[in-house]
Amino acid sequence: MPSTPAWLPEPLPGLGRGDVDVVINWGLGRDSSSIIARLLDDPAAHGIDLERTAVIHMATGDEWPDTIADAERFMLPLFRRHRLRLVQLARAGQTMAAGIEVLDDSRCPARLVTRGSWTLWEEMESNGTVPQQAGTRLCSLHAKAEVGDRWIPAATGGGPFRQIIGFNADEPGRAKADAVMSKNPLRTAVFPLIEWGWGLKDCENYLFDRFGIWWKKSYCTFCCFPVSMGSLPAHLDRMRAHPEIAGRVLRLEYTSMALNPNGRLFGKRSLLEHFSPADPASREVLDAFQRELDCPWAIYEVRRILPVSKADPTVRAPALRSVARLTFGTPSQTGRHLIKVSDKHDVPVEIDPEYGSARAWLKKRGQGFPTVEHFLVAAPFFVKDKQQERFEREWAAHRGLGRPAFTSQV
Ligand code: SF4
Repeated sequence: MPSTPAWLPEPLPGLGRGDVDVVINWGLGRDSSSIIARLLDDPAAHGIDLERTAVIHMATGDEWPDTIADAERFMLPLFRRHRLRLVQLARAGQTMAAGIEVLDDSRCPARLVTRGSWTLWEEMESNGTVPQQAGTRLCSLHAKAEVGDRWIPAATGGGPFRQIIGFNADEPGRAKADAVMSKNPLRTAVFPLIEWGWGLKDCENYLFDRFGIWWKKSYCTFCCFPVSMGSLPAHLDRMRAHPEIAGRVLRLEYTSMALNPNGRLFGKRSLLEHFSPADPASREVLDAFQRELDCPWAIYEVRRILPVSKADPTVRAPALRSVARLTFGTPSQTGRHLIKVSDKHDVPVEIDPEYGSARAWLKKRGQGFPTVEHFLVAAPFFVKDKQQERFEREWAAHRGLGRPAFTSQV
């Protein structure tokens, strides 16, 4: 066994060393797959003792099937040949208290386990949301980073470890952000691609030379980031090649926009607007979307508060939302029910111009902030009742705001 590499500090007093000193994060994509393939050519040259190394993969539950197929076909044989330990993990539930699941832990992995008992999709759909574009990628933190962070101390015995991450030479800012965010004194983050000067193109070429395929990007099928990373055309092609997946993602966006007219997948733009019925290549996607909408539906009561900061009333505070499922039925039953309710209470029903969902407004948001909005909407059944603990208190304090919607237009 090689001696302790120079980068690895001695264990802290009172702490032993577990089975693992080196953790390699594998997202199945081009960057981390290149690193693993190259390191395996000569592990010792990179200070790697394979006996004390674990590759961790965090399954989000909605990776593209072609990425999984390529990873199983080309990467898993390398793991088996070198007896490199692959630990497949997933979050066990929506809350941190639910813990994590080890889906597989093997030096001879036969397949990739695509999901655990909880998936990001379920979180999004039961909340009636899509991944948030602005700010920190909370979905990634919850489904990946927090899962790995929970597994590592048990494997390292609470000792120091080196974590190999696949940020490439085109994105040095991510490595800098990692240094700022990392609070773990036992962890030494290493970015081989930046050390080697390998950008994304280098990784693509390396994998092509090695395996004879252009490795596909790895990400959740409903991710919003392809649009900001300039890969939207490739993303849409992939959706057209997998119309059933695209239809399902459109259902997620439909539900999100039913509960929040601003809840588009790509911020200002929706996924739906990229598929035109006039475009033959998009027709299969739109047909699959219609099939997805043929599911149980519900009428939801949505109340939203758009508050301002208590410390500084010129600054917006995070929105508060209450969603309650009032009744359920088929799409046409819930639509008829909504119209009946709007007739009875003399509130207008509006049809969303993008997705066509029917919404009965009880109160529309006002021009400035703070303000509120209140409506009933028909949408697929999968959203669960939810509101913040302080919602009713805040609603009572804000309910005089917003614009009443009282003229029946049905
Ligand atoms: S791929 Fe996209 S949706 Fe999935 S965890 Fe990462 S940022 Fe979130």
